[in-house]
Formats: sequence, structure tokens, C-alpha cells
Amino acid sequence: MGKKTVLDQLSYSFPYWEKSPIDALDLLFSDVKTGDLILDPFCGAGSPALAALKKGARVIAGDLNPIAVLLTRVLLQPMGLFAVREDFQRIRDAVADKIQDRYTILCPGCRKKIGFEHLVWKRAGDKESEIYPDAVKAGCIKCGFKGVKPLTGSQAKQQVTLSQAAPENWFPRKKIQGIGKIQSFYVHDQFTRRNLASLADLLHAINRIPPTGSRELFQSVFISILFP
Ligand SMILES: [Zn+2]
Repeated sequence: MGKKTVLDQLSYSFPYWEKSPIDALDLLFSDVKTGDLILDPFCGAGSPALAALKKGARVIAGDLNPIAVLLTRVLLQPMGLFAVREDFQRIRDAVADKIQDRYTILCPGCRKKIGFEHLVWKRAGDKESEIYPDAVKAGCIKCGFKGVKPLTGSQAKQQVTLSQAAPENWFPRKKIQGIGKIQSFYVHDQFTRRNLASLADLLHAINRIPPTGSRELFQSVFISILFP
């Protein structure tokens, strides 16, 4: 077992992915009749509200946690598959190439662009500036190349630039307060700069799609990337 990151620890305390099974809730609400009014002030991810709505009840749901409210809205709002596809396409057009380019090299076999597994970094001294990318591990389905290949001088330079580039889009800069055993932390300490820049670009693209149920759907998917 490797060392757990702050995000790993937080995801254990993130309760919303384990929703109550809808069948069990159907049983719980067996006495609920059409037109009854149900109040759920701790709505979590919204499955009790959904079960009550299925019974024909009217529901007032809320939660102190804005993530719970978001997840409940995503679960309960009707959404058109066509609109979801269109919004997904919009997000992909905006950021897919930009994000993928941060994780690709030219294949040593066929010179086509391929995604790499990871870089191999070496240390020449104690300073941060003395750590440099030495090689890349990659596999190519087009020509069959698989293995670790030393980087050329210009490739190494390009990877250093990518790994040091500041995110162009918003990310939380405030210190996140610790809870229980989790100490306070900064979001930017939890990711490499390259990953942080990519996540910030993705969130920016999601927040730019029109304010429909679909935007909230993609926001909830983004949250699930951070708390798998
Ligand atoms: Zn290749």
C-alpha cells in the first residue's frame, strides 16, 4: 500500500457515492401515497427524494452541503440525451486536444503522436532545478513500439516546460480547512502542475456550457474524478 494522499483520505469521508439502494427506499416509503408531502432536509445524493417522487409524493429536499444539493439536482432533473451529447462534444472540442498534448510524445517507432505512460525523472543534485526528465515509457498500437526510450534534448526541454507551466484557468487557491485527522492543505499541493492545469482547463470548459441540467451533470462528473 502506497502512502495515502489527502484526496484519498478525503474520499473515504465523502459519503455520497454509496447511495441507499432505491429498492430498499421503496420499502421504506411503502406507506407514502400520491400527493403526500415529504421533507428531506439531509438529502445527500438524492436517492430518498427520487424514491418518494416515484411514489407520486411532492418533495422538498435540501442539504447544508452544496455538493449534496448539486448531486440531488442532477439525479432528479430530466435531461435530454441529445443535449448531454451536444454539451459533451462542446467540452471535448474546447479542451481535449489541449489536455492530450500535455501527455503525448512522438512515437520513437513511427513518429506518430502517442500518449505516454509516464516520464522517468532523474536527479542531478538536491535542488528542484536539478531534477530532469530523462526517458519516457510508452506503448504504440500503430507500430507496436513498447518500452522506455531516452528523451532527446529538445523533448526533455519541452517536458520541463509542460511540467512547470502555471494553470491558465481558475483553481482554488485558498487553504482547505482540515477535518478530523486530515490536516489543512492546498489544492495545488495535491497535483503535479501539469495535472492541475489540465483539471483547471476541464472545469473551465464545463462551466462555460449553458446553465442547464447538463452543466450540473458534468460538474458532478468532474467531482467524481477527484473523489473516485
Ligand atoms: Zn508508433
